[in-house]
Amino acid sequence: MPRDPRFDVLFEPVRIGPVTAPNRFYQVPHCTGMGYRRPRSLAALREVKAEGGWGTVCTEYTSIHPSSDDEPYPSASLWDDRDIEAHALMVEKVHAHGALAGVELWHGGAASANHYSREAPLGPASVPAGVNDPVQTRAMTRSDIRDLKRWHVEAARRARQAGFDIVYVYAAHWYLLRQFLLPSNQRTDEYGGSLENRARLLKELIIETKEAVGDTCAIAVRFSASIGGPDDDQDTAEPREMIELLADLPDLWDITVHDYSYELGTSRFVPEAGLEATMSWVKGVTDKPVVSVGRFTSPETMLRLVRQGVVDLIGAARPSIADPFLPLKIAEGRDDEIRECIGCNICYTGDQTGTPIRCTQNPTIGEEWRKGWHPERIPAKGSDARILIVGGGPAGLEAAVSLGKRGYDVTLAEARRQLGGRVTLESALPGLGAWSRVRDWRLNQIEKLPNVTVYLESGVDVDQILEFGADRVVIATGSLWRRTGIGRWHETPIEGWDRPSVLTPDDILAGVIPAGPVVVYDDDHYYIGGVIAEALRRAGLDVTLVTPANEVSTWTRHTEEQHRIQAMILGMGITLETGTSVVRVDESSVTVASVHTERERHVEARSVVMVTSREPRDALFHALAGRIAIDRIGDCLAPGTIATSVYSGHRYARELDAEVPAGVPFLRE
Ligand code: ADP
Ligand code: SF4
Repeated sequence: MPRDPRFDVLFEPVRIGPVTAPNRFYQVPHCTGMGYRRPRSLAALREVKAEGGWGTVCTEYTSIHPSSDDEPYPSASLWDDRDIEAHALMVEKVHAHGALAGVELWHGGAASANHYSREAPLGPASVPAGVNDPVQTRAMTRSDIRDLKRWHVEAARRARQAGFDIVYVYAAHWYLLRQFLLPSNQRTDEYGGSLENRARLLKELIIETKEAVGDTCAIAVRFSASIGGPDDDQDTAEPREMIELLADLPDLWDITVHDYSYELGTSRFVPEAGLEATMSWVKGVTDKPVVSVGRFTSPETMLRLVRQGVVDLIGAARPSIADPFLPLKIAEGRDDEIRECIGCNICYTGDQTGTPIRCTQNPTIGEEWRKGWHPERIPAKGSDARILIVGGGPAGLEAAVSLGKRGYDVTLAEARRQLGGRVTLESALPGLGAWSRVRDWRLNQIEKLPNVTVYLESGVDVDQILEFGADRVVIATGSLWRRTGIGRWHETPIEGWDRPSVLTPDDILAGVIPAGPVVVYDDDHYYIGGVIAEALRRAGLDVTLVTPANEVSTWTRHTEEQHRIQAMILGMGITLETGTSVVRVDESSVTVASVHTERERHVEARSVVMVTSREPRDALFHALAGRIAIDRIGDCLAPGTIATSVYSGHRYARELDAEVPAGVPFLRE
């Protein structure tokens, strides 16, 4: 289908200083959990973006000097000439598809504790460094400032040598340059105090970097449009004055906000185009092109922002991860095929855990080099085997789509009236509506695959599976939450677990409203405990959330939403009992104990929701193993995230009748 001509504007070239972006699709710098440790993986990942139509593809944060290392988070580096080769590899692959390559030069200042280099962190003043690390920065002298400028210029020269078209001066988030910009910088020399003084270092860096490489490379400045504050009270006065001061010095303004949890906010808390209100004034104070992000997956939103003069370039990190071919799909009038980001931030957990990126929607991201997986291409089938998939949750659906694309004859049997499994159920919980995109994209694909047949309301048993006579059967029946309370804290059932007042998330997802007051016991620590407490509170119940952790939903620190969840939970009037475990369920109360002192107390509760661990629903698998060719995937294999299930289904489909390396199943750098 030809594209809607209204979208032609998105494919116009944009001049950025000495270079020209071939279109308005701009992959802003984003971390991948690869950095300098995994250059081949990184180059292949960025290449796929360029191939998919992103006119500009940037690196992740790239340290300019050992006085800024972010270990254990894997940043890229341009510390010396030996770093050039790794970047050149990426640039070459990005250029091969006609895209521009950008590099985000970075110095973390007080944000880096320098665990690896053991250099003293640097800052405008001596302040605590890292993340609660027992270390402070060294207050920079004038000579340190001269060194910093020299390192930046040298890194920029190396970047040019690697072939980059765009070089960043990174003055956003909580990194060094922003530490100079903030009002808290009260140095008494010419680099602190007044607004002009605080902006001086940034100004000098832009000028000197431009002098060094500006004839061939565009100079981009990443800048926060607000000082911070609550979401609806962003203070933009000073940032505005600073942009006015520097207005046309850089070739491009890459505008964001200070708060990561808003900039890359999950869909639970931040809508598409969430930054618009905070940054829409920027184009009014500079003639230079402006790029900004907003988890854009809708071509209509992109068009509106360009037409209304909010941005010149559509910035994207997550939408380009979930669908590296998003621009090409719009270009070819296939917008309905865009695999839309769901805003879950599983992609960010790679960086946060020092491991390669993963994505709930796109199981191939991060696997381009080490497994040779491509988001749009999959090898043809290796046999004429007829496949039966049992269970239509994220694992079963992804397996059906990918096997179908390989050309296999696929039958999917699902017990419920609706496909999607846990995604369908969980997306009905507060704030998780966008998660249904995991199901909807796959349903849309299945509709286009005549070789995939779906049977709903078809819970199958052992005899029916045998009778069906498929050549291969894959069990994707998911898992059930345990009622016993067995989890991380309790290895054996909690006394009283078998009382009728004890429920599980599966009961709540099935629509059961428990009697209040209710205790939600969260020993799972990801989102589900917090979101169930929220749902029950919204239903009008008195809710106490008890968790052995010292904060609610603690794993969501990795998805950059923990403090938002905790603020919401407390703000809603949910009682939070942290550092506490449930030790017994009584008639109308639970006995809880401090995990630190073991001191026991009673909490009034007419019902308890156990959010502790899950039991794989694998009875069919075990009953049939050894009798027929059978595998299991997703939560049925090992309960995990939705991303894990999608990956598991995809992997099954890829590896069927394929040569899989014996031993380590992927290439290593
Ligand atoms: P996963 O994340 O691994 O895909 P889910 O729990 O989301 O797991 O999905 C499992 C799906 O399997 C659910 O939709 C469930 O209704 C379905 N299912 C479970 N048992 C059977 C069965 N015996 N026959 C058909 N479908 C089943
Ligand atoms: Fe979007 Fe989630 Fe994928 Fe990240 S992991 S790109 S937030 S769908």
